[in-house]
Amino acid sequence: MKEACGVVGIVAPGRNVAHLCYDALFALQHRGQESAGMATYDNKQITVVKDNGLVSHVFSDTTLRALSGSLVIGHTRYSTSGSANWTAAQPVYRSAGASGFALGHNGNLTNTGELAEVAGIQVTTMLSDSDLVAELLSREIESGAAMQHALRSVLSRAQGAFSMVILESDTIYAVRDPHGFRPLCLGRLGTEDAPEGWIVASESPALDVIGAAFVREIKPGEMVTITEQGVSFVQLLEPAGEKEMLCIFEFVYFARPDTYLMGHQVHTARRRMGELLAKQSHVDADIVMGVPDSGIPAAEGFAKASGIPFGYGLVKNRYIGRTFISPDQNKREASVRRKLNPLRENIEGQRLVVIDDSIVRGTTTKALVAMLRDAGAKEVHLRISSPPFSWPCYYGIDTPTREDLLAANNTIEEMRDFIGCDSLEFISLENLRAAIQLDGECCDACLTGNYSAPTPVALGKGARW
Ligand code: SF4
Repeated sequence: MKEACGVVGIVAPGRNVAHLCYDALFALQHRGQESAGMATYDNKQITVVKDNGLVSHVFSDTTLRALSGSLVIGHTRYSTSGSANWTAAQPVYRSAGASGFALGHNGNLTNTGELAEVAGIQVTTMLSDSDLVAELLSREIESGAAMQHALRSVLSRAQGAFSMVILESDTIYAVRDPHGFRPLCLGRLGTEDAPEGWIVASESPALDVIGAAFVREIKPGEMVTITEQGVSFVQLLEPAGEKEMLCIFEFVYFARPDTYLMGHQVHTARRRMGELLAKQSHVDADIVMGVPDSGIPAAEGFAKASGIPFGYGLVKNRYIGRTFISPDQNKREASVRRKLNPLRENIEGQRLVVIDDSIVRGTTTKALVAMLRDAGAKEVHLRISSPPFSWPCYYGIDTPTREDLLAANNTIEEMRDFIGCDSLEFISLENLRAAIQLDGECCDACLTGNYSAPTPVALGKGARW
């Protein structure tokens, strides 16, 4: 699985907002490593800088100095829809209105074909779903609508996942879809009595890194409007239900461990996943180890609850992206070896409990188990801190089709056999929800097949395509 972007918007009069945005984007690098971009407004015009590559590759001191003004939006991208080419990097710019506008999007729309058709647009001429939204907004603005009305008009027809930031002259708008699939939070620079600026971002560490205080999460369907004068809120779109449907995999895998989501720190939730997994599926073993990074806190929790010592068994190369960066199977297996190397002296002759966050195709896990056996592991017992991933995601995460999802087509015993481990168990959905301490709902469609928003293809349980 790959993440589907990070977004940031900052208004900070008198501060170098491009540098602040750089720091915030750096904190969101894990949400997308394909491209990065920023758009600033300097009271005259919007300037956009974006390119393929990591944040540190795209921006230099020189480019940051050229991005002046007190308003900025930023984006890190992994393409779940549309082209991976640099032209599809974000923010997307349109020249409609007095200053034009720039837009950054985290998520994935599920009715782009329909939206385009109604507007008489050939969907293939659009670079991505975000490009289509920008085009539709642009048409509304050219016909005289103010941005807030344009956003309501376009986004009320959009289905799927979106956490968006939009920069238009002296205003930043940030809006979350009616389900709240992808996270978005608000922070404040300065004190409550004397605010010096505001930031919206996908995850709270982007606030921490620039010294902003966490204020609150943006609600499903809500829009926050930020200017130099302050912030205001409006319920732009009717919420889809009583509770938000935040992606459960933000807790399991996508979000940083230091991120707070729905009031819970992700690291703590991951530790609890390990504790509950240990209670659910005991095994006699010598050492518990986690697959870096998200498997580590779950392994700590497993060790605590089981009494089996925690140890490190894999060293991660921190200078490459997340595992599924290669487009084909062989490269994917090679990328495991590039990313992880076993600590032989901790592994040799040991019965291992290995905690990982998920199994998608299974090829990476299979390569990992083979690597541990090569390093001398006596037994490898795999424990997974999410239930079987059996359904594709249409809400902003890049997953294979159902045909390629190991859990969609195999029993747990068949999966164990394919992977080559001694035993395999997944945390139950009930225990995962208990670990997150969920008060209400969360999206778990990839685990249950219960999609809360329309999908782009007709799905039925047991369907194959
Ligand atoms: S389908 Fe799965 S990965 Fe996609 S938003 Fe829902 S929980 Fe997250």
